[in-house]
Amino acid sequence: MGMLMVKCPQTGHAIPTGIRTDHESFRRSAVFFSRSRCPFCRTDHAWFARDAWVDEPSIRARRRLVGLDLGTGH
Ligand SMILES: [Zn+2]
Repeated sequence: MGMLMVKCPQTGHAIPTGIRTDHESFRRSAVFFSRSRCPFCRTDHAWFARDAWVDEPSIRARRRLVGLDLGTGH
């Protein structure tokens, strides 16, 4: 299971939609349209399923570790 993410059209940041799904069920689901609250713009963005992707926790953890390594400046 992962979090369904969309890209903020204003800032380019990934926004968690709050919808938990996995690649298979997301691919099988009917094309849908939704809105998500964007924490960066503090507004709602409308999005289509084709703009969304599933963020698997294992992939995200690896990326976050790389970011932390680069960010330690002490
Ligand atoms: Zn936004």
